[in-house]
Amino acid sequence: MPAKLIDGKAVAAQLRASLAPRVARLAARGVRPALAAVLVGDDPASQLYVRNKVRACADTGVRSEVHAFPADAGATALADRIERLNADERVHGIIVQLPLPPALDAARLLASISPAKDVDGFHAQNLGALLQGRPRFVPGTPAGVLRLIEHAGVPIAGRRAVVIGRSTIVGKPTALLLLQRDATVTLCHSKTPDLAPLAREADILVVAAGRAKLVGRAMVKPGACVIDVGINRAADGKVVGDVDFDAVREVAGWLTPVPGGVGPMTVAMLIANTVEAAERTLD
Ligand code: NAD
Repeated sequence: MPAKLIDGKAVAAQLRASLAPRVARLAARGVRPALAAVLVGDDPASQLYVRNKVRACADTGVRSEVHAFPADAGATALADRIERLNADERVHGIIVQLPLPPALDAARLLASISPAKDVDGFHAQNLGALLQGRPRFVPGTPAGVLRLIEHAGVPIAGRRAVVIGRSTIVGKPTALLLLQRDATVTLCHSKTPDLAPLAREADILVVAAGRAKLVGRAMVKPGACVIDVGINRAADGKVVGDVDFDAVREVAGWLTPVPGGVGPMTVAMLIANTVEAAERTLD
């Protein structure tokens, strides 16, 4: 039997709808949640991602503002803007769309965002809280991955989970979240020799390497839950994940499509974090 597809678009729409009563409760107390996105340069992919976030905000009743800077913007101008946004009571969440032009120090800029407004969850304080098992703002993609696994009803506690990819924004936090749910987690990366037998042990396989068709049928345990985070541009211009979809569909128990899997969840979790940031100002 082919794998059940996990529909990220539908789960993300449900999540956004579930935010409506929270946004209404905030409105009743005179608060409109707001997200500020800092966008530097004219990379079309970054512009598209920011447009998607702005649209998702509008759908959810969250106010958004885009702070666009030219590609040659100086670090001081950006730091000044972040400082202003940190102090602005009408702004609850601040994100810096990555990647930044190479001349800018992304880590430094991200560190200047107030942890209470860091709705991308990339600040060391928020990543540290996640490591300690008391997460505050969890990065959207890993949080979305967990939400999809839970939505599918796939058991996590006591199961073997393998995460391929160890970036700070996807692989590492995903591994931590699975560990927190009592999975036994293996974190693989580009220096892992002989990936296939490790991947084949996984009841839950999360692939976030950015390599089209990295995971084929032989790397998947029959019945496993396979979450494909990858976004790659195929030779024909189509967007594909890291998993050989048609082949793995024949063997996996559950599978996320690309597009329409993890991507929509990333944005929905960001909006959820923004609403939460606004709620915290009333605590
Ligand atoms: P990254 O380049 O920072 O990290 C990639 C990781 O994969 C590294 O840890 C590397 O060691 C590992 N890797 C690379 N080749 C490998 C191989 N052959 N075998 C094993 N491990 C290998 O990328 P990232 O930011 O973590 O993103 C990963 C992928 O997920 C990209 O395709 C990116 O576009 C996508 N992504 C999707 C979303 C979404 O919302 N769907 C969000 C963020 C990233």
